[in-house]
Amino acid sequence: MNRQQELHERWQSVKERLASAVAASGRHPSEITLVAVSKLHEAADIATLAALGQVDFGENYVQEACAKQQDLLLNPACQQVRWHFIGHVQSRKAAQVGGAFALVHTVDSAKLAQALEKQCLAVNKRQPVLIQVNIGAEEQKSGVMAAALPALAEQVLACPHLDLQGLMCLPPVFDNGALARPYFAQLRALRDDLSTRLAMPLPHLSMGMSGDFAEAVLEGATLVRIGTDIFGARPPKKL
Ligand SMILES: *Cc1c(COP(=O)(O)O)cnc(C)c1O
Repeated sequence: MNRQQELHERWQSVKERLASAVAASGRHPSEITLVAVSKLHEAADIATLAALGQVDFGENYVQEACAKQQDLLLNPACQQVRWHFIGHVQSRKAAQVGGAFALVHTVDSAKLAQALEKQCLAVNKRQPVLIQVNIGAEEQKSGVMAAALPALAEQVLACPHLDLQGLMCLPPVFDNGALARPYFAQLRALRDDLSTRLAMPLPHLSMGMSGDFAEAVLEGATLVRIGTDIFGARPPKKL
């Protein structure tokens, strides 16, 4: 089986499993978007899936993401592609990210929000964003602590070129949906509270990966980020 066939089968199978999870949740399929996480995989794989109809792709590393966008810019299969940035953004790299993605999932500090705002102002673009919450309060993980979320949300709202649309998390446990599920429920509760507090809709919850997307859908995910189940194991990151 060649790579294109393999990708087709894997993608089809993920779509079927996602459709069952959505059906089990009683939600409408249009509420959930599959983001194919293509980090460390070839740009050619993105073109293959885009030609099959996959629209949303997630990337984690600024340099790699920008190189792939450039590679695929004129590829006829990729004209509908929506790029998501789902990795940690260092403030000094914000200039490459602001205004360049359909959605940045990982705003986690006022410093980063302000750096993105500065870039978006310069290029006169609005940037849809999510705030990443460190839902397990893990020391080494990115994301704002839950207690600091309302203050950060206010700081994001103070940036006229940033469009706050919801929250994202990467729970401490993954590949075990039953253990991850309470964290998804927590993110949803945080979103509901914040939405009430700010008196504005925050429609998006970015949560769920290959091993736990069904549980994330049950808890209200609107964006599931799936890498391994679509592309297979990732090659190691070149340093
Ligand atoms: C890599 C990554 C994913 C995809 O994880 P899989 O387990 O391969 O599906 C999702 N979200 C983030 C933030 C990631 O870094």
